[in-house]
Amino acid sequence: MSKAAKFSRNYRVESGKGFRLKDVDPGDTAGLKLEKDHAAELLDKGVEVLAELQDKLYAQDRRALLLVFQAMDAAGKDGTIKHVLSGVNPQGCQVYSFKAPSAEELDHDFLWRTTKCLPERGRIGIFNRSYYEEVLVVKVHPQILAGQRLPPELVTKKVWNERYEDIASFERYLARNGVAVVKFFLHVSKKEQKKRFLDRLVEPDKNWKFSLGDAEERKSWDAYQKAYEDAIRATAAPHAPWYVVPADNKWFTRLVVASAVIEALEKMDLAYPEVDEAKKAELAKAREALEAEKG
Ligand code: ATP
Ligand code: MG
Repeated sequence: MSKAAKFSRNYRVESGKGFRLKDVDPGDTAGLKLEKDHAAELLDKGVEVLAELQDKLYAQDRRALLLVFQAMDAAGKDGTIKHVLSGVNPQGCQVYSFKAPSAEELDHDFLWRTTKCLPERGRIGIFNRSYYEEVLVVKVHPQILAGQRLPPELVTKKVWNERYEDIASFERYLARNGVAVVKFFLHVSKKEQKKRFLDRLVEPDKNWKFSLGDAEERKSWDAYQKAYEDAIRATAAPHAPWYVVPADNKWFTRLVVASAVIEALEKMDLAYPEVDEAKKAELAKAREALEAEKG
């Protein structure tokens, strides 16, 4: 385990066996009581390390990293993505936000729209929500499934287990193709969500973030928690781990996520491509020519 994994190792789930969401406290900060400034400083360091690793990932151009972010509303997905990836060269990373599917998307199998957005070799892909919505919001609201126009004989009691199985196979397939998958569930408490919703209602600058739909989804809190637990249990694997990240303290969420991303990149054994003898001779020649230039 690398040094960078210090903040994230306790929240890594790579086997669903015995996993219980209630064992992770959303308010946990691993005993750290950091001043705001100190937390920001630590994160800045992490962001720097991450940027260097990403540079190598890009130069090597062999592997890719897919980061999946899932959470209840107001858990801090957007802010975490913004802060953790702030140092990364925009050319080397792509963020996709998945909303309710369009008519065109509903005309295809459920993985179709996300497969189109997978990161190229050398890049980091970020899914802000993902194909996991298909076993979360769709499971919590069965009428959405009914609107997917699946052949009726395929919609049985087994449909959720089949989806878990398909997702797990898909992630194994990606791993076998050099795309590492790391999934984050930002675990916020119901109490903290209420506080953040109220902030959005009270502070004029945050009003735009509030949507009535979010308050509506809050009513299904327990069903969502259960759906998250089931999904994590069914799809956690060493090659596609989940991180269940305490999300009541934003500074801590960001440290944990940065630490997990660094660990995933460090595991790849990245290095700048080696230059062979012929190329070295070519470079020496080019240098000589440039240095011989007048002026
Ligand atoms: P934010 O609120 O911070 O902008 P968000 O991810 O909540 O970010 P919204 O536009 O509020 O974005 O919500 C997107 C909605 O789309 C969510 O309610 C989500 O459950 C829904 N959604 C995403 N994928 C699917 C899907 N496959 N089927 C049905 N609904 C989906
Ligand atoms: Mg929302």
